[in-house]
Amino acid sequence: MRYLKLTAAILAATAISTTGPAFADGHGSDHKIVDEPLELTIQMNHKRYPRYLEEWPVEQTARKMTNIHLKDATVGANTVSDSENNGKTEVLNLMMASGKIPDIVGSSRIKDFVNQYGPEGAFLPLNELIEEHAPNLKAFFEKNPDIASALKAADGNMYYIPYLPDGKYGRAYFIRQDWLKKLGLKAPENVDELKKTLEAFRDMDPNGNGEKDEIPFFARQWPEVLRLVTLWDGRSSGSDTYHDFYVDEGKLKHPYAGEGYREGIKNIALWYKEGLIDAEVFTRGSSSRDYLLGENLGGMTHDWFASTAGYNDSLADKVEGIQFKAFAPPASISGKRVAEHRRIPIKPDGWAIGHTNEHPVETIKYFDFWFSEEGRRLANFGVEGEHYTMIDGKPTFTDAILNSDTPVNNFLYTIGAQLQGRGYYQDYRYEEQWSNKHALEGIALYDEGDYLIPQFLGVAFNAEEQKVYDKYWGSIRDYMLERQQAWILGNGDIEKDWDNYMEQLEKKGYSKVLEVMQAAYARQYAAK
Ligand code: CA
Repeated sequence: MRYLKLTAAILAATAISTTGPAFADGHGSDHKIVDEPLELTIQMNHKRYPRYLEEWPVEQTARKMTNIHLKDATVGANTVSDSENNGKTEVLNLMMASGKIPDIVGSSRIKDFVNQYGPEGAFLPLNELIEEHAPNLKAFFEKNPDIASALKAADGNMYYIPYLPDGKYGRAYFIRQDWLKKLGLKAPENVDELKKTLEAFRDMDPNGNGEKDEIPFFARQWPEVLRLVTLWDGRSSGSDTYHDFYVDEGKLKHPYAGEGYREGIKNIALWYKEGLIDAEVFTRGSSSRDYLLGENLGGMTHDWFASTAGYNDSLADKVEGIQFKAFAPPASISGKRVAEHRRIPIKPDGWAIGHTNEHPVETIKYFDFWFSEEGRRLANFGVEGEHYTMIDGKPTFTDAILNSDTPVNNFLYTIGAQLQGRGYYQDYRYEEQWSNKHALEGIALYDEGDYLIPQFLGVAFNAEEQKVYDKYWGSIRDYMLERQQAWILGNGDIEKDWDNYMEQLEKKGYSKVLEVMQAAYARQYAAK
C-alpha cells in the first residue's frame, strides 16, 4: 500500500512538472486532494469582497494544486454593508433564511454565528475531522493551545477555521521628535515627564507661528484617549476591541470598574481641562490625524505603527522638519511600561462547513491545504512567478506590486489573497516588505522593551449565559461610557461620584455579567 501511494505521488509529480506550473520546491503534487476535480459551493462575505470570485488567480492556482474548485453561491451579496461592530452580518442571516447553506461559508464576524448555529446543527463540528485528516491544522493547534481554546463553542467543538493575524504590534505612542529637540526636551520617560512635555507643547510654540495653537495630545479614534489610563495602572480594554473585558490572574474583570481606571480618568479630565488633550477629541473623528499633522498642530498620539509613521514621508514637503516617531510607553505611576494594544492572534473571521456538505473530509483537507507551507504562501502572497518570487528563501513581491499606486494590501484582495473570509495564517513578512522604515524602527523599539501584555481572547456563551449577558450588558456598557465621557469633559467629579457609580453598576447587573463571563472563561480555557 505504501509502495503504491509512493508510486502514484511520483507519477503525479512527474506529470505536474511537465504540464502544470513548476513548483520551486517540487512539492506541488502533495496537495492534490482528489483525482478528479471536485466542486464545492461557497458563500463568502466581507466588506471588501462581497462574493467569492472564481477568476481570482489565487483560486485558479488552488484549483490546480488541490483539484478542489470553489463555486460562488453567495446569497444577497449586494444588499448589505457589513458593519465591523455588528456581531452577525445580515448576509449570514439572509443565507440562513434562504434555507440553503453552501458547502463552505466564509465571512468576517462568523464566530458568534457558527458558535450559535453550529451546536444547533447548521455547521459541522471540526474537531474529529481535523484530528483525522488535517495534519497542518492539528500541528498548528497543538502549538497554539490558547487559540484552540478561544475557537471553541460552548459545546466544546470548533465550528470554524479562523483568519489568524501575524505580527505582534499594532498601535504605539508617537510624538513630534523635532518639537522635542526644538524645546530642548527628551522623549518623556514617565507620566510626570509626559505631562511636562505636553505642557511645553501647549505653551512654548513649538510650531513657531507665534500662536498658542498647538494641540498636545490628539486621537483619531476617541477611545485612544482612554489608553492614557494605563499611565495610572488602569486598563482601557483587554483585547484589540475597545471597552473589552480583561483577565487579571485568571479572573475576568472590566477595566471601567477598577481603581487604576478611576485614578486615570481623574487625571485625563485634568489634562483635558488644562488643554493638554484635544478639546474636540470626542468629535473630531477619523480625519484628525491628517488634519492636525498636516497643519503642524498635533504633538502626540496613540495610533497604528505603519500608517502613522507614513506621515514622515507624506508630509516631508509640507511640514518642514517633521519627525513624528514612535516612543516607548512612559512608565506609569508604579513604574510599569505597558503597550496595551497589540494585534490579536485570532479573529472572529474565517470559514466553516455547512451541514449539507457531502464532502467533509475533502473540505477539511482543503482547509488544511491553506495551512501547508505552499498554501499559506499562496494565501499571503498570491501566485509565485506572477505576484512574488522567492529571493533567499523569502517570498518577495514583484517591483510592479511594491511600486504600484494601489496599496499592496488592497491589491492582494483583488487577486484573492489575504482574504479574511478564508481561514488562514497570515505571514507578517507580507507586510514588512512595504512598511515604512520609521514604522520598522518603532516596532524594533517596542520589541526591545517587551511592553506587550496578555490579551483576552474571548469566550463562547451557552444559551443561559448568553441570556444573562444580553439582558444586562448593553445598559451597563452604555452607562459606563456615558459617565466616562462626562467625567473627562468635566461634568461631575469621578472621586465624588465613584461609590454611586459602582452601586449603579451593581444594580444594573454587573456581578451577574461577570459571573457568566467567568463561567464561560473557566470552561473554555480550563484544559490548559
Ligand atoms: Ca504655535
